[in-house]
Amino acid sequence: MDATPRPASIDSILVKAGREHGRSAIAVNPPVHRASTYLFETLADFETASKTPFDGPFYGRVGTPTTFAFEQAVCELEGGHRTIATSSGVAAIGAALLAFLDRGDHVLVVDTVYEPVRRFCNRMLARLGIETTFYDPAAGDDIAGLVRPNTRVIYLESPGSGTFEMQDLRAVVAVARERGLRTIMDNTWATPVFLQPIALGIDVSVQSATKYIVGHSDAMLGTVTTTAETYDAVRRSTQDLGACAGSEECNLGLRGLRTLGVRLRRHEASALTLAAWLEDQPQVARVLHPGLPSFPGHALWKRDFSGACGLFSVELLPCEPASLRAMVDGLRHFGIGFSWGGYESLVLPVHPETRQIARWDGKGPVLRLHVGLEAVEDLRDDLAEGLARLRSA
Ligand SMILES: *Cc1c(COP(=O)(O)O)cnc(C)c1O
Repeated sequence: MDATPRPASIDSILVKAGREHGRSAIAVNPPVHRASTYLFETLADFETASKTPFDGPFYGRVGTPTTFAFEQAVCELEGGHRTIATSSGVAAIGAALLAFLDRGDHVLVVDTVYEPVRRFCNRMLARLGIETTFYDPAAGDDIAGLVRPNTRVIYLESPGSGTFEMQDLRAVVAVARERGLRTIMDNTWATPVFLQPIALGIDVSVQSATKYIVGHSDAMLGTVTTTAETYDAVRRSTQDLGACAGSEECNLGLRGLRTLGVRLRRHEASALTLAAWLEDQPQVARVLHPGLPSFPGHALWKRDFSGACGLFSVELLPCEPASLRAMVDGLRHFGIGFSWGGYESLVLPVHPETRQIARWDGKGPVLRLHVGLEAVEDLRDDLAEGLARLRSA
């Protein structure tokens, strides 16, 4: 046998990542440590600990054994230098942007970005004197034409929120590297199971762990994963903002990680089945799912991603608002509500027609579907009945 063991595959990492070491009997999943204050035997011990406050229990806002375990686990999956857990995905994104941006700077943000990030740029960053240009997700290496002398950061999200436009991540990274810009990517849709942004040369990968990592729609949690070069700036920013995650949430995040691989593959298979079925329905204008060969970004998805999650959208043919309501209100398995990534199916309208740069050319309403772990036949019947209501309303 070969002396060097084969590196563990992602499913094996998910089972063990973040587990405590060094004791004879340990809990399989790191338990919840509730703490704000940690007590030290002597002043000297306290002073020693304060030199490396991020490497062990020191003060609750900096981390507890539970938050450290969760961070370590996500970091292993993302293939980064260090991960910092935050109170939500939005907190992770805000801290990552503020880590590299200063008064007078300029940031490039993809126009198909998660909407609250657009608001963060237009409100918070604008107030701080930081200018944002929203760019077309199809820009690729043309993004070089938008770079100014004061540009510091390119912010990516691929696929885009709601409409799933794919970005040429490699082309954007090449431009950023050449111009000395930092890149931050929202990796919530793929999770590190299907994409590792840092391996593609992205500097910082952020996730809303609220979605697939927690996976059960019962906690808010975010992560920022950095390279060695970007860690200090991101750490300062998250600490200055006080955007720490709670131990309870990190324990739920760890618990979710254990089944992330199996859940994602089931979400993926069911979503692809429904997406392909929807393409053949007469009330459907198009299906927006990167895993479908008909989707414009399919080749980019295939090149860079190893899978697709359960979230995609469908554009219907133009119809009366009342017909759409009849369709959506009567769904039995798709709940109406924010977020996604839990075990249950969800539906919400999205409104890409408000975009200024990546202009939306659709005519009918767009529904975003999160395909949960219910039996796919039940979900298909539910949608079929919904489309029948749409037709007859
Ligand atoms: C939900 C979401 C976020 C924000 O995460 P929260 O945990 O809700 O703050 C960020 N990015 C994407 C793509 C999301 O879907």
